[in-house]
Amino acid sequence: MGEFDLIARYFTRPVHRAALGVGDDCALLKPAPGMQLAVSSDMLVEGRHFFADVDPERLGHKALAVNLSDLAACGARPLAFTLALALPRVDEAWLEAFSRGLLALADAHDCELVGGDTTQGPLNICITVFGEVPTGQALLRSGAQPGDDIYVSGTLGDARLALEALQGHIALPPDVLAAARLRLEEPTPRVTLGQALRGVASSALDVSDGLLGDLGHILRASGTGAEIDVDETSKLIASRALFTGSTAYFDVELLRQCTLAGGDDYELAFTAPPALRDAVARAAAAATTPVARIGRISAEPGLRLADAQGHPLAGRYASFDHFGG
Ligand code: ADP
Ligand code: MG
Repeated sequence: MGEFDLIARYFTRPVHRAALGVGDDCALLKPAPGMQLAVSSDMLVEGRHFFADVDPERLGHKALAVNLSDLAACGARPLAFTLALALPRVDEAWLEAFSRGLLALADAHDCELVGGDTTQGPLNICITVFGEVPTGQALLRSGAQPGDDIYVSGTLGDARLALEALQGHIALPPDVLAAARLRLEEPTPRVTLGQALRGVASSALDVSDGLLGDLGHILRASGTGAEIDVDETSKLIASRALFTGSTAYFDVELLRQCTLAGGDDYELAFTAPPALRDAVARAAAAATTPVARIGRISAEPGLRLADAQGHPLAGRYASFDHFGG
């Protein structure tokens, strides 16, 4: 099977939202009047972002999910995406499963595959997504104000818990590992919530490298600091509820590491003024996505951590950085 057969077979589909899809030198998009185009790219590299033996269907899902998560963080509605793919060889079973996972998520969000590039090389997946957002209404990192509440959607830390287990650092009961692994390998982009938060959230981003490190981006961009309730945040790990045996697996420090600095969560972290708490609750309900209030923005720079009793916590919960530091 040659390059063009491969593209035709696995990655060419009719489009209805774009003006032109796969097959010409460029795809043509038609954002609606009054909309800005929101654009983001994310690359997944074998050995760096996923294990070589990961289920290809889940990998297809995740490759698009991490990109849709960026659109969600901006409050944008997905429109289309391109796929640049380096493949070591043509493995039809792999391509069939990968494209199935990819296109199922694309269909769920009515986000069309409109083009890309295919080459031979070490497995590498780069997706660029295009979304639309009403002009001036994109959620940015820079809008947090002192006094704003800090929220996070969904659950945190389970992806990291799975990674620790898969790397052999900790042992987990099989059912707990399976559920946590699903969060690692098949994350849910909070696309509906992001759009529901337009006009409500003062700032937002998606948590990809770990909550505290990512929150740091909001604080720097907004010129503010924050106080975080560590115990409230630790509760957001879903795996704890599943595991009814010995609590030895869930020592406090591991829970804190996973929830505060885990990475690969793809939840939304956002801020909103206390006066809009009802509006936040309505957005969460409309998106059927739970949100939890975990802290507050302050004028004083820096990130301060405290437990539920308000005792300050020392200790760094660094988040993931590909180049160390
Ligand atoms: P060009 O020679 O102009 O770079 P290509 O021959 O690489 O174009 O690709 C032919 C067509 O197939 C283009 O429309 C391109 O966008 C599309 N395409 C290539 N690879 C992929 C892919 N992995 N997924 C979707 N579309 C692809
Ligand atoms: Mg060309």
